[in-house]
Amino acid sequence: KKEVRLDNVSFSYRGGEHFSIEGMNLLIPAGKTTAIAGPSGAGKSTVADLVMGLVKPDKGHLSVDGTVISDKINLWRDQIGYVAQETFLFNESIRFNLLLAHPDAGEDELIEVLKLSASYDFVNKLPDKMDTVIGDRGVRLSGGEKQRLALARALLRKPSLLIMDEATSNLDSKNEKKILKAIDALHGEITILMIAHRFSTIKNADFIYMVNDGNILESGTWDKFARK
Ligand code: ADP
Ligand code: ADP
Repeated sequence: KKEVRLDNVSFSYRGGEHFSIEGMNLLIPAGKTTAIAGPSGAGKSTVADLVMGLVKPDKGHLSVDGTVISDKINLWRDQIGYVAQETFLFNESIRFNLLLAHPDAGEDELIEVLKLSASYDFVNKLPDKMDTVIGDRGVRLSGGEKQRLALARALLRKPSLLIMDEATSNLDSKNEKKILKAIDALHGEITILMIAHRFSTIKNADFIYMVNDGNILESGTWDKFARK
């Protein structure tokens, strides 16, 4: 688990005049769950891209455990587990999909991440368990099951930072709860960044940043926002 910060970061897209981030300060403390909330177009994905080093700040910097990340960006990216709305699972076996993240993982590690992601039970019910082929060529998984597998895959490399980028926004509340429960159980073990437009998704975050138009409008704990 690592502490990640954006310090005084400014950023704008080339050719995009209407949207910019100016002097953003964002702290994602080690082992805590930090959330970024805001409507569509607020800049949440852009902030995630800055945190991952996928885009470079025009001003300011990204730092991890106090070290500015500018050149060794690939080393940083390798430490991030990323789960998005789209799961990017292949129409291959569950084992194949997991091993893509970490080809050397042993059976016990696969089982561990299936358990951590609340996937273990449904995988065990599949005809060939971990060797069951999913997707067009095999068994159809529900949206919730796919997301849990995507989470399992993200956890396999023992990330220092786990980013859940609208990872539950396509799910109904029952399926969302299963994932959020798994995320809660990881609390303290991994630094977590949750990104969501739906406010209820981030109820259990330690600290929330509300963003719009590239700005942090307000930040604080859930209580502060729930009171309004
Ligand atoms: P406000 O705008 O409500 O004054 P601040 O951003 O000043 O909120 O932060 C309030 C407190 O929360 C400060 O003590 C700050 O250090 C702490 N804080 C800021 N970011 C985080 C975070 N991501 N996680 C936990 N605590 C934080
Ligand atoms: P959110 O994730 O909160 O929906 P985004 O970070 O995706 O917001 O987008 C913030 C703003 O930046 C939007 O106005 C969007 O159109 C714009 N934007 C996003 N990506 C690009 C890009 N590659 N080039 C230009 N503008 C972009």
